[in-house]
Amino acid sequence: MNTYLEQLNEPQKAAVLQKDGPMIIIAGAGSGKTRVLTYRIAYLMQQGVDPFNILSLTFTNKAAREMKDRIGKVVGYSEAKNLWMGTFHSVFARILRSEADKLGYPSNFTIYDSQDSVRLITTIIKEMNLDKDRYKPKQILSRISSFKNSLITVRAYFNNSDLQEADLMASRPKVGDIYKEYVDRCFKSGAMDFDDLLLRTNELLARFPDVLARYQDRFRYILVDEYQDTNHSQYLIVRALADRFQNICVVGDDSQSIYAFRGANIQNILNFQKDYPDVKTFKLEQNYRSTSNIVNAANSVIAKNKTRLDKEVWTANESGGYIKVMRTISDGEEGRFVAQSIFDNKMNNQLTNNEFAILYRTNAQSRAMEDALRKKDIKYKIYGGISFYQRKEIKDLLSYLRLLINPNDEEALKRVINYPARGIGQTTIDKLAIAANHYKKSIFEVILNMSTIDLKINSGTKTKLENFANMIQRFQIESQTKNAFEVADLVVKKTQLVKDLQKDGTPEGISKVENVQELLNGIKDFITDKIEAGEDASLPIFLEDVALATDFDSDKKDETPRVSLMTIHLAKGLEFPYVYIVGMEENLFPSAMSMNTRSELEEERRLFYVALTRAEKQAYLTYAQTRYRWGKLTDGEPSRFLEEIDDKFLEYITPKLPEPRANRFIDADLFDDAPKKIRFQKPIQKKRKEFLDKKSGDLLPKKGKMKKVSELSGAKANLFDGEVTVGNIVEHNRFGKGEVIALEGKGPNKKAEIQFATAGKKKLLLQFAKLKVI
Ligand code: ATP
Ligand code: MG
Repeated sequence: MNTYLEQLNEPQKAAVLQKDGPMIIIAGAGSGKTRVLTYRIAYLMQQGVDPFNILSLTFTNKAAREMKDRIGKVVGYSEAKNLWMGTFHSVFARILRSEADKLGYPSNFTIYDSQDSVRLITTIIKEMNLDKDRYKPKQILSRISSFKNSLITVRAYFNNSDLQEADLMASRPKVGDIYKEYVDRCFKSGAMDFDDLLLRTNELLARFPDVLARYQDRFRYILVDEYQDTNHSQYLIVRALADRFQNICVVGDDSQSIYAFRGANIQNILNFQKDYPDVKTFKLEQNYRSTSNIVNAANSVIAKNKTRLDKEVWTANESGGYIKVMRTISDGEEGRFVAQSIFDNKMNNQLTNNEFAILYRTNAQSRAMEDALRKKDIKYKIYGGISFYQRKEIKDLLSYLRLLINPNDEEALKRVINYPARGIGQTTIDKLAIAANHYKKSIFEVILNMSTIDLKINSGTKTKLENFANMIQRFQIESQTKNAFEVADLVVKKTQLVKDLQKDGTPEGISKVENVQELLNGIKDFITDKIEAGEDASLPIFLEDVALATDFDSDKKDETPRVSLMTIHLAKGLEFPYVYIVGMEENLFPSAMSMNTRSELEEERRLFYVALTRAEKQAYLTYAQTRYRWGKLTDGEPSRFLEEIDDKFLEYITPKLPEPRANRFIDADLFDDAPKKIRFQKPIQKKRKEFLDKKSGDLLPKKGKMKKVSELSGAKANLFDGEVTVGNIVEHNRFGKGEVIALEGKGPNKKAEIQFATAGKKKLLLQFAKLKVI
C-alpha cells in the first residue's frame, strides 16, 4: 500500500510523515524536494485530508500537472483531480474570478499579458507627450511591476518620497503619473495584468475578512515548491492563507534563487523562520539526480558565493564522465559542435532526442544552435522566445474572443477594430479614445453611445463603427448557446480573418492560416480535456489558460522526442541526462548587465549552479572566441565560472589557453549593493538640485562641454585622487551620467558612490571606473 514511502530515504520520509504544522525544507539541487512535496500530498490524502483542502503552488503549470499525475497513481486519479494545484498566477486568477465583484471587477475580466501591458504603457507615454527614450515602455512596466510586487499602490507611491525621488533622480519624474493612468486604464478595461493577479488577491484577502476566513478554511494544507523564488506579494498571500491552520510546507534552495531581478526575495526564507517560531526544519543532503562529478563540480562553484545558507549536497551515484569543456572559434562552430556531439551520443549510446537539453543565458543564442540542429536533421523544441499565442494572427483571433467576452477590453479592441481592414482609420480611433478618456468610458461604450456624443465623426464612418459593434454583440449572443470552439470558428468565418491571410498567398501567409487552424484545434482539445476532467470548458477559461500558459503548456500533443532548448531560467526544477551549457563567456555568462555588484554576480553564479545541476549523466560547457552580438562580431573570453570549477572535474576537449585577465572585474572589486542611507550635506544638496534642474530641462550637457579627466592605461593606474570630489557630475561609459555622492578609501582602493541618472546607485572603484568629470 504505502510502497511509495519506500522510495524515500530517511530524512525524506520524515518530511513526508510530518503531517501538521509549519515546516521548511531547504536543500540542494536534486535532493528530492519536489518528490517529497508530491508524496506528502499523497500521504495527506491517505491520512484522510480532503484533496479539496490542499493547495499546492508550483513554478509551472506543467510541474503541477506532473505532480497531480504522480499523486493520482498513488491515491487514484478521481481523488487527485480535486487538488488545487498550479502556479500562483493561475490559482489566484481562478479565485479572483469568483470574487471579482468585490473589487469592482467583472468576473469576465481580461488578463493582460506583457505585450498588452507594454502597448498600453506606450499609448499612455504618447498621450502624455513624454520622451519615449527617457520613458522606455518596458522599463516603466518593470518599475510598475516592482511596485505592485511590493504592494506599493499608486497612493502609496505618492506618499513615499523616497520612491518619487528615485524616479526624479533617474530623470523620470512622471513615473507616478504613468502608474496612476495605467492602473486606471486597466481597471476601466476590466483587465488585470500578471502582477494584479497577486496584488488584487492581497487586496481581497486584506479587505474582506470573511473571504479570507473562507479560503483559510478551505486551504487547510498549503505547499509551495521553489519557495526561494517567491516575491513579497506571493509571500503575503501564503502567509495570510496559512494563518489559521498553519499547515504550511515550503521547499526550496537558496542557491537556486534566480529571479531577484523580478522581485523574488530570498528574505522570504528567513522570514519564514520568524513567522512560524515552531517551524520544523528538514535537511535533505543526498542528490539522486547527477553523477558525483557533476554534484561536486556544482558544489565547488556555489561555494564561491558568500551569501548562502549552510548545507551539504553529496551523492552515492557513480562518478561518471568528466564535465567536458569545448572552445570554438565562433558561435556558428559552437552550434555545429553541439549538434555533432548530440548526434554522436545518440549513435554511441542509443539515446533519443528528449534526453538532451541545450541551455543558454539569453534567447538570442538559440539561433546558432537551431541552424546546426536543423542541418543535422535533429528535432528540437525551443521553450521561451515568442510563444505561439503571441503571434500576430493568433493574438488577433484571441482579441476578438476576448472582446466578445469583455467588450471593455481596450487593448483587444484596438487590435481588431480595423483588422481585417474595414475602413476605420487611426484618426477615428484617436477621437474615440479621447472621448473614452474624457467620459471615463470604454471605447466600446463610446461607440454604443455615438448618437449622444459629439465625436466629429462622419456618418459613413459611424455606420462602419456600428457594424463592428453589432458584429461583436452578435458574437456575444451566439456565445451563450455555442461552445468555445463553435464561437471561435464563427468568429474566423464572419470576420474573414483567414480570407485576409490567404489573400497574401506567400508561404508566410499560408503558415499563418495553419496557425489559426492550430488554434482552433487547440480549443477543441481544450474542450475535450476539460470535459474529461469534469471541469469548466467555457471560452473565458480557455482565454485564461492561454494568458497564463507557460511555454511548457502548449506542447502536450506532440509526441516526437525533441532536444529541448531553453534559457537557464526556464530550466529550473527540470532534469535531463545530457546537458549542454553554451556561451560560457565573460559578459554573456555572467551577463555584462549583472557584474556590477557582488549580489548581481552571485545571482549569476546561482544561475550557473542551476544549469549544471540539471544534468544527470553528462554536462558540456562550451564557449566561442568570437560571437555575433547585436549584429557585431565580438571577441569572447572564457567565463570566470569555468575557472571556478575545480580542474579535477573537467576535461578540456580543446586545450586550455593561457587567458589574459587584464580588464576583468574580479569578485574582490565588487561591493555589496545594500543601500546605505546617505544624508546629503547642504552644499551637496545644492549641487544635486542643479543637477536635477539641468536634467529636467536640457537633460545632458552637450558633448563638447565634457572634460576628460584622464585616460586609464593600466590596472595600477591611480589617477583620481583629488580629481573626483563629492558633488561632481561624472560620466561612466556604461552607466551614463551621475552624481558623486560619497567617496571612501585611499589610493588604489578609493571608491566613489555615484547616483546614476538611469542606472541607480553604484559604488565603483575609481581606478577601474574610467569616469569623466563633466
Ligand atoms: P531541484 O532543486 O532541481 O528542484 P529537487 O530537490 O526538487 O531538485 P527532485 O526533482 O525531487 O529534486 O529529485 C531529483 C531526482 O532524484 C528525480 O529524478 C527524483 O525522482 C530522484 N529522487 C529523489 N529522491 C529519490 C530517492 N529517495 N530515491 C531515488 N530517486 C530519488
Ligand atoms: Mg524541484
